[in-house]
Amino acid sequence: MASSPRAPIRIIPQGEIAGGLKEPPAFRLPDPNSLFVDRAARFEVLAANGVGEKGFLRLMAQLARAQHNALARHPAPAALNAAHLERCTQHGLPPLGTDAPLDAAWRGALDGIAGELHDAPAAARQVLDHLLAQDAALLDTQAQRLLSLDYPALDAASVPFIGAALQVHWVKRVAALGEGVLKKLDVPTVCPACGSPPVASVLRIDVPVPGTRYLHCALCATEWYMTRGCCSQCEAQDKLAYFHIDGGNAAVRGEACEECKGYIKSFNQEKDAQADPYADDLASLALDILLDESGFERASPNYFFVPGQG
Ligand code: FE
Ligand code: FE
Repeated sequence: MASSPRAPIRIIPQGEIAGGLKEPPAFRLPDPNSLFVDRAARFEVLAANGVGEKGFLRLMAQLARAQHNALARHPAPAALNAAHLERCTQHGLPPLGTDAPLDAAWRGALDGIAGELHDAPAAARQVLDHLLAQDAALLDTQAQRLLSLDYPALDAASVPFIGAALQVHWVKRVAALGEGVLKKLDVPTVCPACGSPPVASVLRIDVPVPGTRYLHCALCATEWYMTRGCCSQCEAQDKLAYFHIDGGNAAVRGEACEECKGYIKSFNQEKDAQADPYADDLASLALDILLDESGFERASPNYFFVPGQG
């Protein structure tokens, strides 16, 4: 049997490798099969390790599991029409923007989540029962307020459940949309799929170059690439100061901008492979206090809590 010809081996100089590095993948879509179930597991680990308020983290684990089950049952979204997609591409708009009228399916997700949480603590159950008794228009109004981050008009106890249902709906939509449709927006500080702000920044390990920084959408969980030194709010370069809690999880840092005085948290998976932008955010509220006391303002929403009432 003839042997197949072998390609000659060529030694590539270090400089040439660096020069040839491609820009990292611009987007990472959430995996609907694992997103919420992994998050639930992370909440459980954090609760067991006593790194936050145990009862709250356990409830959030239940909520994330309920999201996983609600997502599996969530109806497939209608395909976006070609004219809409063309308009979004032309004007640099996200295709699943939150300013369009709400689809009733999000309320179906809320029903599904509430049905899963029958053994939640009494106080949470009371909030859920109250939500389920509200009419569609009132629920939609609250959802729109949350999507616009209009916190003063919201009931803080309802926010995690409304937020969880909206996430289910948007994750379903973005997973159905597929990566090929996404384009870089003119504004790199909001999600290219839905236009929402990021909840946190993640230094990922499951990418061609470990440690690459992505911003994680607070609503639809799409991630988009941003260079490490760039402020996630005002895009100032190399103005970030890094904060962490002495003796705390080394994977968790605050990225605070000296220019706009806003901050976002960063979770380094090279130091903690399971770090999750939602769960670890809620388990590191001491860092929020430190940053607040240092004169920085939280600029990133987490739909599971209302700032100042965590
Ligand atoms: Fe998004
Ligand atoms: Fe800034």
